[in-house]
Amino acid sequence: MSTTKEIVKKHGFKFTKSLGQNFLTDDTVLEDIVTGADITDEDFVIEIGPGVGTLTKELLKKAKYVCAIELDSDLIPILEEELREYDNFQLIHKDAMKVNFDEIIGNEASVKFVANLPYYVTTPIISKLLTGGYNFKSLTIMIQKEVAERMAAAPDCKEYGALSILAQYYCNTSIIRKVPPSCFIPQPKVESIVIRLDKLTEPKVLVKDEKLFFRIVREAFNMRRKTLWNALKNLKYPKEIMEEAFSSANIDPKRRGETLSLSEFGKLADALNDLGDNK
Ligand code: SAM
Repeated sequence: MSTTKEIVKKHGFKFTKSLGQNFLTDDTVLEDIVTGADITDEDFVIEIGPGVGTLTKELLKKAKYVCAIELDSDLIPILEEELREYDNFQLIHKDAMKVNFDEIIGNEASVKFVANLPYYVTTPIISKLLTGGYNFKSLTIMIQKEVAERMAAAPDCKEYGALSILAQYYCNTSIIRKVPPSCFIPQPKVESIVIRLDKLTEPKVLVKDEKLFFRIVREAFNMRRKTLWNALKNLKYPKEIMEEAFSSANIDPKRRGETLSLSEFGKLADALNDLGDNK
């Protein structure tokens, strides 16, 4: 029996589906996550959703310190008992979406996030971590295969979208491995992927107004079947300004958003920033 199954049985833990509780039971996957995240004894690791602590334990053996954030009250006493021998461990009982990560990170120099993320809240958590301006080096996460593919996608393929731009604007992405449903209890319906995002020291394209850049990206992909000309009407810039912005960014307005590279989105955002103040 895997350690995870033993701990679940020993404590009579009952899974809560709505909290995205699919616990890892496969030791090789645990190893691949820790190796893929390149955890060393200089790293301060933040784990979101430790479950019964099987991945946490592997992290604790390698890292300088592990801070785990768990929402489910039933898991708190289990984690406290199972991980009591480690003095480099801190447990925070809280919703990760409500955590102020700056407070946890403090002055730590080498912060790495590691998580088998609950699927229901994957995108909001990734988005919070990437846009929050937090000081961390990397994010190694297990997520639904489709979401990982969207994050790593290049222009002109069906997976390419706002999430690809968000991930690739802030990070270099690399896929570590696929994980089949048989590696979890209970088994999820979908395949998973472990993906690593290494935070860049500065975004891949430098734009004058980040908020405007992401607004354009959102609008372009909200209506991905439409031409950029139609999709970006929601921005409510005068027609002449839009024409001039497309022309100075050298982008054909008849193209669809899904064909634009990160740097083309950046050029369009800067052109609009220079031309209009009608945001
Ligand atoms: N790390 C464990 C593993 O790999 O076996 C468990 C992963 S399980 C997919 C997700 C975990 O996140 C569960 O323990 C769940 O209770 C916890 N969780 C769900 N929503 C959360 C939230 N908003 N904040 C913190 N933890 C959350």
